[in-house]
Amino acid sequence: MDTLEAKVVILGSTGVGKTSVAVRYTQNTFSPNGTSTIGASFMTKKLQCSVRLQIWDTAGQERFRAMAPMYYRGASAAILVYDITSEESFKEMVSWMEELNKNMTDDLVIHVVGNKLDLESKREVSFMKVLDYCDQLSHGVSGINEVSAKHNIGIEEIFLDITQTLVGRKYNLNLDRTTTTDIHSENVQYEKSGCC
Ligand code: GDP
Ligand code: MG
Repeated sequence: MDTLEAKVVILGSTGVGKTSVAVRYTQNTFSPNGTSTIGASFMTKKLQCSVRLQIWDTAGQERFRAMAPMYYRGASAAILVYDITSEESFKEMVSWMEELNKNMTDDLVIHVVGNKLDLESKREVSFMKVLDYCDQLSHGVSGINEVSAKHNIGIEEIFLDITQTLVGRKYNLNLDRTTTTDIHSENVQYEKSGCC
């Protein structure tokens, strides 16, 4: 069976939990004091067959929006993360969506993720609002999940949805591995293989 390889970028404001989502998925751990110590880690998890996701997380430079296109170039999928306790982070997610729509083709798989579901009592962003927003997008999204990296709720599902969508489009995949490997060295890259 052919191996499906895809670059997946995680975008969103600082502090929404991008690193925590990536680390929860690839290493099944959570660090309450932040995750900056992991530095430049590269993880490969070999399962038995045919999907390998390269998961790209930023190490702080998400603040420098001008650099973002270098980072998401060549991506097959983007995970746009906001924090359900932060209206501001939702607005920023919307601006990421607009940027991707402007710069990327329609075959980019976009998945919207509301993190910190365990902080329900501090919620500022209703799920309905996110559904309504995604509903009116002309290109649609591959899924919308509310998750908790902390409590490990919904994390696998994000990547499963993305994988299933990518598998469905397998023959249209446009992978650019040379681009993915020479992007800023401070980017953190994880890799995980899995069955579809
Ligand atoms: P990033 O800047 O988007 O990469 O965010 P981080 O992954 O570094 O997380 C920022 C802060 O939010 C850290 O203190 C994390 O421990 C915390 N955090 C991340 N995910 C969750 C979550 O699901 N629930 C809660 N309560 N805190 C989280
Ligand atoms: Mg981070």
